[in-house]
Amino acid sequence: MTSPTPRGLRWTIWLLSTLLFFLFIWLQGFVLEDINDQEGPDRQRIQNEHIEAELVERESQLKRQARELERDIARQEEIKTNRQESMSVAQRTWNQFAQEHRRVLDSGRQPPAELSTTLKEAQTLYMKATDEFEEANTKISDLQQIQHTIALEQETLDRALSIQRGDGYSAYMTLYRAHRWRVAAGKLSFVVPLFVLASWLVARKRKSIYRPVMIALLVSSFLRVGLVMHEHFPAEFFKYVGIIASVIIVLGFLVHALRSAATPKEDVLLRRRREAYQKNCCPECAYTVPDEEGTTMACAACGVDLFTVCDACDGIRHELLPHCRHCGAQSERWRGVPAVAH
Ligand SMILES: [Zn+2]
Ligand SMILES: [Zn+2]
Repeated sequence: MTSPTPRGLRWTIWLLSTLLFFLFIWLQGFVLEDINDQEGPDRQRIQNEHIEAELVERESQLKRQARELERDIARQEEIKTNRQESMSVAQRTWNQFAQEHRRVLDSGRQPPAELSTTLKEAQTLYMKATDEFEEANTKISDLQQIQHTIALEQETLDRALSIQRGDGYSAYMTLYRAHRWRVAAGKLSFVVPLFVLASWLVARKRKSIYRPVMIALLVSSFLRVGLVMHEHFPAEFFKYVGIIASVIIVLGFLVHALRSAATPKEDVLLRRRREAYQKNCCPECAYTVPDEEGTTMACAACGVDLFTVCDACDGIRHELLPHCRHCGAQSERWRGVPAVAH
């Protein structure tokens, strides 16, 4: 306090304090990360608890069936196109032979057996193609009927499943939010006590030589508290907390400044009074005090007690200094508001 610290050393202290601040920030970050890494609720498991397994099984079954149906329908369509071609070819052949047959009959001759057989064959071929075409058509309409039934069931199932999935999701979100609150509480229960401790140390141990360490701890923990709040609380909420915290801090500094203005610090007060007595002046109003040894005395201008009778040795002592110059007894009176003699 008394001997001024050399400039180089002051810089070193300042630098090391800054370094310490960053190390504190870092260290607190590690602890907070570990708290943050706590395992949260298992989303898949919660979803599964809310969704009936049979429904999911049925859903994939229906999907598989729908795919198979599409394939079958495509196959039947192919057959249909194919048979349509066969039909027209067979029809042309049949017509040709039928005309030939009629011409022979018209000319009054008996058509050869070979021609009759060929005509019969062409007719059979045409009939067969027609039957197969019809068969494919019927199959397609049957398959489409099944497809429709499946689509209806899928729709109902989708509705039921989406309700269950929604329930699962909100159940998960409820648990997840609770988990985040727990994490936030865990983090705050680490940084807030640290911040309170640092504030207490800085406020109480004003004369400690380790003050830079305390200030580094205070600033780093304050920053961490702010970051945790910002991360975990909604922006609206954080805004209020931030403003209230700032008001409290500024108010704290202001009250401190006002108080030290109203009541000067002990060393300042002591120095002022010592110098006044040395110069034979009243410490309160600077009026000149007569140089009379061994008598009680009050200031003629403002009326404060300057020399009084010592409670311990009955000698005459300086009322506005801590010790009696005869016996050294300490008095607490000197610190208070000086008493005005009557
Ligand atoms: Zn005076
Ligand atoms: Zn004394």
